[in-house]
Amino acid sequence: MKIVTTIAELRAHHDEVRRAGGSIGLVPTMGWFHEGHLSLMGRARAAHDHVTTTLFVNPLQFAPTEDLATYPRDLDRDAALAAEEGVDVLFAPSVEEMYPAGASLTTVQVGELSAPFEGASRPTHFTGVATVVTKLFSIAGPCTAYFGEKDYQQLLVVARMAADLNLPVEVVGCPTVREHDGLAMSSRNVKLEPAERAAAPTLHRALCAGAARIAAGERDPDVVIDEMRTVLAASDLVETDYADVVDAATLVRPTELRGELRLLVAARLGEPRLIDNLGIHAPA
Ligand code: AMP
Repeated sequence: MKIVTTIAELRAHHDEVRRAGGSIGLVPTMGWFHEGHLSLMGRARAAHDHVTTTLFVNPLQFAPTEDLATYPRDLDRDAALAAEEGVDVLFAPSVEEMYPAGASLTTVQVGELSAPFEGASRPTHFTGVATVVTKLFSIAGPCTAYFGEKDYQQLLVVARMAADLNLPVEVVGCPTVREHDGLAMSSRNVKLEPAERAAAPTLHRALCAGAARIAAGERDPDVVIDEMRTVLAASDLVETDYADVVDAATLVRPTELRGELRLLVAARLGEPRLIDNLGIHAPA
């Protein structure tokens, strides 16, 4: 596996792959790899001649009060894991390489899909995500890009952005990888204190409790939301940000639960803020 740090070198690599008729799988990440990241790389490996993983902790998607400075980083560790997964190129540019003029004057905003939930709690977050992913797509060129359902709203935002802007990239969503106790894998889990780590599966339990209500025939979103909030409130360490049930495509809460739905939760456990979600179909 080759580690590439400049945009020019990555472009040259990808041009060569495409010239030879090869397809490219792209896996954008912020590093500190876990099984969730590796599942995306494995999926890309199985489908493409060439796999590039990008590793860039994007300052633009962190608010000044957030954890940019303490975000876990270890290039050697990540490079070893990506190489094991069969990745061809790890693209790890510096902040100066990605933003040579300092802050980007041009940004990408994805309307109402980015406004609620993570967008409400982190108002500049999705502009940062959409802008850097547009840059990465522009650098990578035509390819298939793999994103996790773990960050469900992000997946919708990126897919919509690629469609709206006719970017030559197919966006593919991949299932959430979980620990044995249900906790969704996340780079931020390493920051949980032992008691917080023990309480963290409460998020997944709340989602499952909400989904069980819907599976049992409940069609009133308020009842499902109450159920999730009750489960979350049972742990003193969990400070709920939001718990909701929405249409899986629009993120709008319906008055009656029907069709493809997504249960969403976000909560703070001490310093780390965790998010999780679950899809469920409610038959008419
Ligand atoms: P991050 O490094 O947190 O920005 O994540 C990079 C990519 O990995 C994103 O597309 C995430 O949605 C995805 N990802 C993160 N955690 C998981 C997980 N537990 N299962 C599947 N995909 C994940």
